[in-house]
Order: sequence, then structure tokens, then C-alpha cells
Amino acid sequence: MGDATVIDGSAVAAGLRKRAAEIAARLRDEKGVSAGLATVLVGDDKASEVYIRAKGRACAGSGLAAFDIRLPADISGAGLVAEVEKLNVDDRVDGVLVQLPLPRQIDPHRVIAAIDPAKDVDGFHPVNVGRLWSGLPTLVPCTPQGCLRLLHSVHQDLAGADAVVLGRSNIVGKPLTALLLAADCTVTVVHSKSKVAPVMCRRADILIAATGQPKMVKANWVKPGATVIDVGINPVADPDGRSHVVGDVDYASVRAVAGAITPVPGGVGPMTIACLLLNTLLAACRRRGIPDPYFGVL
Ligand code: NAP
Repeated sequence: MGDATVIDGSAVAAGLRKRAAEIAARLRDEKGVSAGLATVLVGDDKASEVYIRAKGRACAGSGLAAFDIRLPADISGAGLVAEVEKLNVDDRVDGVLVQLPLPRQIDPHRVIAAIDPAKDVDGFHPVNVGRLWSGLPTLVPCTPQGCLRLLHSVHQDLAGADAVVLGRSNIVGKPLTALLLAADCTVTVVHSKSKVAPVMCRRADILIAATGQPKMVKANWVKPGATVIDVGINPVADPDGRSHVVGDVDYASVRAVAGAITPVPGGVGPMTIACLLLNTLLAACRRRGIPDPYFGVL
């Protein structure tokens, strides 16, 4: 097996952002609707600030309105819920995203449950989770949606494929499992209590790694020719005190075995924000009962 096809997430995401810009312009010109995303950042976590700024820039780049709500780290759960409820009734806002993680005094489940499911562009509200698992129209969480779009960039049809999802978080592993099942894959979920993870992974035609464990997936975990999607974003320290980001897959060795692989950075990462733009536009259409000529499979 030679070098794998490298799945260029940056290029696919750039195409989606362009599509988002076209949809936003059509909504404005044909329907008089200016789609808007509200992001809520509690406290001053540096990584979260970087993500929020990137989301604001992406909105501006695609012609969506961005509302950047900043709240103090010591806000109460009730205080944050009250802020979310204001956004729920603000007609300029189509999508509400509360940046996670939240400070310890706040129960994230309570806050997520307070978001209007029609504006829940992260797709984490229990109503939307239930709709995803039931095969009903929903807002599909952005990172898993991005993974599926990348898979479809190299596989027209996923039916019958053996898929292994490494990780079972509510944000990535579980929704991805639902999406792969809906695409007719046979899905195995591997987590920290699973026995013989490498053996399970080696069966996979499609292997998705979302564990947060740097370079965990080695070449001998991968079936020759498999498609490998690396969700991991792990900062590792360099000897000079700086840091760089690696995935959950040992890219250099796995690339020699896999049929196709996403790099880190430049793989799943850029897809997440592109899918957030699409979800905001989808919410903008659905909230107004605008028939949806704009979207593809998801
Ligand atoms: P998480 O909530 O920490 O979940 C990690 C999952 O991996 C858990 O289900 C855990 O199992 C499992 N796991 C951990 N160590 C394992 C091991 N040694 N063997 C098998 N399974 C193991 O993380 P997450 O939020 O899903 O994120 C996963 C990775 O994706 C992180 O690197 C994160 O930074 C990245 N991420 C990237 C994006 C993006 O936009 N590209 C978005 C979100 C997350 P248990 O359930 O048993 O504990």
C-alpha cells in the first residue's frame, strides 16, 4: 500500500463557506432575511476566545450577522439561562451557540436545554439529539457533520461499510455513530473501557478517531486501504517551549497504510465552522417556513 489520499478539509470547508455565502446572499436578496448567529462566551478561557473569534470571522466572511455575547466567569446558571432566553426571542438571531466548557458552577445540560431547539445550531439540545437518532430532520452537530461530509468527499456510498468510531462523547462520538448508522454503515463504538481496541479498529473500512489522545492510532490499528478521519486536536509542547497541534492518529505511520486520511491541522477542524454556518442558514430557513432548496444530504 502506498501513500494514502490526503483528504483536504481546508479545501472542502472553503467550498462550503462559499456555498454558505451564496445562500446568505439569496436569503437577503430573495427573502429579505439577514441570517444571524449569536455566540455566548462565559469567562475568558483563551482557547474558547480563539474559537469564538474564528466563528465571528467566518460569519463576516460569508455575509451572516454575528452577535458576540460576553458574560463574566462568575455568572450564575440562572443568569446564563436568562441571557439564552433573550436570544431565543430575538428575531435577528437564527442560531444560538453557548461555547463549552462552562465554568464549574454552571450545569451545561441545563443551559443547552434552555436553547430554543429551532436555534440550536450546535445540535446538542435533547430534542435535536432525539430527532437525529429517530432519523427526523434536525440540526446535526457540526463536527460529526463535517466528518460525514469529508467521508462523502471520497465515498459516494457508505452502505455496508464497517465503521469504527473511537470515542463516545455527546459532541462527537455519539452523533457520528447516529450519522453513520443512518448512512447504512455497520458501526462499532470503541471507548476507554473497550477491550482490544486495536483489533476492533483494524476491522474498519472507515475509522474515526475522537479520543483526545495524541497519536493513539498506530499503523497496525488500521486495515490497509481504510479511510481514516482524525477528529483530534491535541496541543503538544515543543522543546523550545512553543506548542503545535497533533491529532489522535499517528499520521506519519498511518498514512502509509490507509487508503485516505485527514491531516491535522487542515482536516476536520475547518469543517466544524463551515457546518456551523450552514446550520445557521438552515435554522434561518426553517424558522420562517422557507422551503429548503439550498441544502444537500444533511
Ligand atoms: P471527550 O469528551 O474527552 O471524549 C473522548 C472519548 O474518547 C471518550 O468517549 C473516551 O472514552 C474515549 N477515549 C479516551 N481515551 C481512550 C482510549 N485510550 N481508548 C479508547 N477510547 C478512549 O472528547 P471529545 O470532545 O469527543 O473530543 C475528542 C477529540 O476531538 C479531542 O482531541 C478534541 O480536541 C477534538 N475535537 C475536535 C473538534 C474539531 O472541530 N475538529 C471538535 C470537537 C472535539 P470514555 O467515554 O470511556 O471516557
